[in-house]
Order: sequence, then structure tokens, then C-alpha cells
Amino acid sequence: AVRVRFAPSPTGFLHLGGLRTALYNYVFAKKHGGSFILRLEDTDQTRLVPGAAENIEDMLEWAGIPPDESPRRGGPAGPYLQSQRLALYAQATEALLKSGAAYPCFCSPQRLELLKREALRNHQTPRYDNRCRSLSEAQVAQKLAKDPKPPIRFHLEGEAPAFQDLVYGWNRHEVASVEGDPVILKSDGFPTYHLACVVDDHHMGISHVLRGSEWLVSTSKHLLLYQALGWQPPHFAHLPLLLNRDGSKLSKRQGDIFLEHFAAADFLPDALLDIITSCGSGFAENQMGRTLPELISQFDLTRVTCHSALLDLEKLPEFNRLHLRRLVSDETQRRQLVGKLQALVEEAFGSQLQDRNVLDAAYVERIILLRQGHICHLQDLVSPAHSYLWTRPAVSRAQLGAISEKVDIIAKRVLGLLEGPGMSLTQDMLNGELKKLSEGLEGTKHSNVMKLLRVALSGQLQGPPVAEMMLSLGPKEVRERIQKVLS
Ligand code: GLU
Repeated sequence: AVRVRFAPSPTGFLHLGGLRTALYNYVFAKKHGGSFILRLEDTDQTRLVPGAAENIEDMLEWAGIPPDESPRRGGPAGPYLQSQRLALYAQATEALLKSGAAYPCFCSPQRLELLKREALRNHQTPRYDNRCRSLSEAQVAQKLAKDPKPPIRFHLEGEAPAFQDLVYGWNRHEVASVEGDPVILKSDGFPTYHLACVVDDHHMGISHVLRGSEWLVSTSKHLLLYQALGWQPPHFAHLPLLLNRDGSKLSKRQGDIFLEHFAAADFLPDALLDIITSCGSGFAENQMGRTLPELISQFDLTRVTCHSALLDLEKLPEFNRLHLRRLVSDETQRRQLVGKLQALVEEAFGSQLQDRNVLDAAYVERIILLRQGHICHLQDLVSPAHSYLWTRPAVSRAQLGAISEKVDIIAKRVLGLLEGPGMSLTQDMLNGELKKLSEGLEGTKHSNVMKLLRVALSGQLQGPPVAEMMLSLGPKEVRERIQKVLS
């Protein structure tokens, strides 16, 4: 069975890069009827950020890709927090010590620091010189008496096995000759990443490891650990990085890559899932506007290429507009949007509402249907530019007089139009009627008539087409606003 995991460290809140890794795991699991597991790698207790663990899980739920097993949900392979699995790492370390694949290290921090400085002075990458490998049993026993809880190192030996990465192809990194033996268990009993990751992927029955390509070179080390522990390794698929449009690193310092920012700014989760996948590979077709079920059905791991995905966040509002329209076209979703907009109007205009009828579901729905193609967020409908939909504008006769001296004539003719078939027309037909109305007024430009009506109806010089405004407001309200401008 397919079992995959997303294994972030709770050293920060969930950002777009993490979401993308989680999403690829999620769609792969769902495509194959498997399980998607959230495991929190909290072994570096000094770097934990308060609230990060909760945020990661909250944001996966918000994004619509909740894990099947997680710290919060539990599951058969728990606990899902590494800090609660120390016994398993101790057990594996014990086995490695027994077989001679691991050894205690008694080097002092000062000695390690000196080694590091010397390497840097010689322009070399610092590496442990494996000195404690060669301690005799008697020496170890003697040192253990003074230092009973030394860190344990893994004895890197032999050729790393080659492996076929499902994205990057055949790979092998000569870790044994390049790196010093890594610490796998610290003196405080906490494991380091490499051991914890191997032990957990094994005990949690992970079938495929889909993770960021920055871990590709570590995989050889992991395979040596699997070998030493006598375990069958999972399949590996490393995912190309998500970068900014200009190829620079998606920086966590840019505050706006955190999911909670997008949630607070009322972006739709589907728009985010869409934009972070449509800039990358792995899907049968690469068009924007995909929903999660489509992402699942179109996903194919063999289509993931090793090219980095370049993210253009400036396009996000456009993605959001597209997904908002999709929601509007679904009756159930639309009803929810109506409820949401009613609440937004109440919140934004509550005490200023002269006419509570603007909160009627039918009115609110009509506004959404008429404006959907022109807004990126539902919230845009309560912006100052749209306030005329909810409250009456304050318009002075002088203001209108400055646009045209024929205020009264124009107003009367519009009222006449409202008596006739005007308001039952489509927007295009109503437009035609307004044009005819201007033609009947010699010496007055159509654009001025429209300007006058726009100001009379909304108090603004710019906005939607006048015919749309009239259809939005409805005949009764248009009549009242026009009648008010008559002298
Ligand atoms: N804790 C690692 C991270 O934060 C997980 C790497 C892996 O998936 O193995 O990226």
C-alpha cells in the first residue's frame, strides 16, 4: 500500500514551499488510494517555534489537504511527534552499536571546534576525522565511566548503494570518503535528522519518500543506515525546488509566503494549490483553473521533471478570480458565498445601512452574479468603490449640474424608461435603450449622460457600466436615487 509522509520541522509556520511538498505527497497518496501522514520532526528542541506545530496542521486542513494520520488525528503508526519516539531511536542505536556500525564519540566540543577552524583555514569543508572509531573496548569502557552519555556516531563505510530516484534518476553520493561520521544520537538522547528519518520511515511503513531536492545528497547516507539496520528502504522521489519568478530562493523572510497570510487575506485554498502546481510539473495538462480532484486525477509522478518551479505570486489574484467564478457557478457554494457576503456587508456598513433590504439573499446573490468576473475577492464587494451597492451616495445637485445642464430632462427620461420595459431587459438591451435616450437629447453627448447617471446612482465618477449598476440596484432603488436629483 502507498504510504507517504510530509515531515516538516516545527521550526516555523507553514509556507508555500512546504505546502507544495505536502500537496505532492497528498495527491500521490490519493491517486493510489494510499495514506498521507504528517510527522513533525521536532528533534532540535532549541529551534522549536511556539505555535508552529499547530499552525502546520491547521493550515493543511485549511488548504483542504488534511493528513490521514498526524499528531492531532493520531493513527496506527503513532506517535507522530519525533520527541515522543525516543525509545525507537535508542533501540536502533543500540542495534548499530552492537553490530559495530556505530560508536560513541568522546571528542570534546573544543576539539571539534578546532578541527572545524583548521578545515576552514585550509578552505576545506569541515568534517569529523573519525578519531573515536578506533578506540579499543577497554578505552571505551574507561571513558564511559567518566562520560556515561556520549553522542553516538554512525560508521560510514563502503560504497554507498546507487539508487534510482523516481524524479532524478540514478544517483549515488560517495558519502564515506567525503564526509566524517555523522552523529546519530546526541548525548541528551535525541536523535539527529538522519537517524530519526530512517527509523520513522521504516516503522511507519512509508512506501515512498517524496521530499525536497535538498535532501537528495543525504539519501545515500540514509541507504547506508537502512543497510546497517537490515531494513528494506522505501522508494525515493525528490521534488524540484519552488523558487521566485526570477529564480531566487523563496525566502521565508518575505512575510507573504506563509499560509496564514493568504488565509487572512481571504484567498481561496484552491487558488493557492492551483498556482503552486501550475508552475511545476507532474500533471497531464498544465492549464490554470484546476481543482484538487483534478490535481489528483491528473497527477503522474513520472511526469515530474527536475526543473525548478518558478512562482509568480503576482498572478495569484487572477487565479483567485478564476476559482471564485467556479464557486459562484455551483449553487451550493454560491449560497455559502451569499452568506459570507451578507456578513461582510453587515460588518462593513452595519450602522450605515438605511435600507436593510440590501441584506436580502436574492439581492446579495444578484450582486455576486453580476460582479463575479470583475473581482478577485468577495471582500472587494464591500470596498469603497462598491459602497453604492449597500448605502445611498450623497450627491449634490451642483455636482450633477456641472456635468450637464439637462439634469432634470435626463432624470425624467430615465424614470420613463423604468416605467417601460427597461428593467426587464438584459444589460446589452438596456445599454441600447440608454443610447437611444441620449440620441433623443440633442447637443448632449452620450458619455456625459452616462457620467451623470453614474454619479447620481453611485456618487462616483468611475465604476461598472451604468446599465449594470441599474440592474444591480433594481428598479425601485434606481427610481429613488434618480428622483432625488430632480429639482
Ligand atoms: N524535517 C525535514 C524538513 O524539514 C524533512 C526532510 C524529509 O522529508 O526527509 O524538511
